[in-house]
Amino acid sequence: MKKIMLVTGASRGIGAETAVLAAKAGFDVCVNYLQNEDAAIEVVKAIEAEDQRAIAVQANIAVESEVMKLFETVDNRFGRLTALVNNAGILEQQSDFEDISLQRLKRVFDTNLGGSFLCAREAVMRMSHKHGGPGGTIVNLSSRAAVLGSAHEYVDYAASKGAIDSMTIGLANEVGNQGIRVNAVRPGLIYTEMHASCGEPARVDRMKSGVPMKRGGLPIEVAKAILWLSTEDSAYTNGSFIDVSGGR
Ligand code: NDP
Repeated sequence: MKKIMLVTGASRGIGAETAVLAAKAGFDVCVNYLQNEDAAIEVVKAIEAEDQRAIAVQANIAVESEVMKLFETVDNRFGRLTALVNNAGILEQQSDFEDISLQRLKRVFDTNLGGSFLCAREAVMRMSHKHGGPGGTIVNLSSRAAVLGSAHEYVDYAASKGAIDSMTIGLANEVGNQGIRVNAVRPGLIYTEMHASCGEPARVDRMKSGVPMKRGGLPIEVAKAILWLSTEDSAYTNGSFIDVSGGR
């Protein structure tokens, strides 16, 4: 059976590395993105260079109707999904807790938790033995922020990732007997463009002295953990978390 993966937020960063690594492991890949079409097309080309099929699909995972269309596109172009990587996530400007507005809290939760929740639900509908599916894997991108709390930076983001951890445990327990394994990866300080959106592009270099390994991580180092959880190599791993954080 052909392995088919959807990676949300795969136009750059950890998602892009995961999409290309998945192609090397024999997956056809749907590259979801929000607005950066050119970058998504480059990822598609890299996947095709590995002789796998790829499509770039624009969809805002925070919007239910767009998630439905995203999954229908995968159904129509590739067939039944076998692996979901809930990677897309956002954070906002660094700020103290008391300056976080309800609107901001909702934006962060709608994407990070709501989007992952909706995508996981649609994946379960397609993968579950209960619905005639072949089984599959779901990997959620959490963060070490879920454990550390991100004081004075973005407690809203950390809390959304804490919720991802709870969702991972609950869903893993619920669908473990339906052929679906659900796990999470918690990256630490990784060199991607994400830190620019919090107002500090060089954040990893400023904070790396606090990492026991004294360096930031590379997106590919996270992608390898995601891929392991998405293949039979991790066949007995369910409801688990891999910290890819250099020990911090
Ligand atoms: P980037 O900011 O580099 O990339 C974000 C990706 O998500 C882009 O492809 C972007 O698309 C897409 N995206 C953003 N919002 C949406 C949306 N609403 N719908 C669909 N796609 C969306 O992120 P990273 O690679 O750094 O992070 C990936 C994941 O890892 C995130 O969940 C993040 O929270 C987590 N993580 C990252 C860490 C780090 O240090 N980098 C540390 C801990 C966790 P487009 O290009 O079109 O804008």
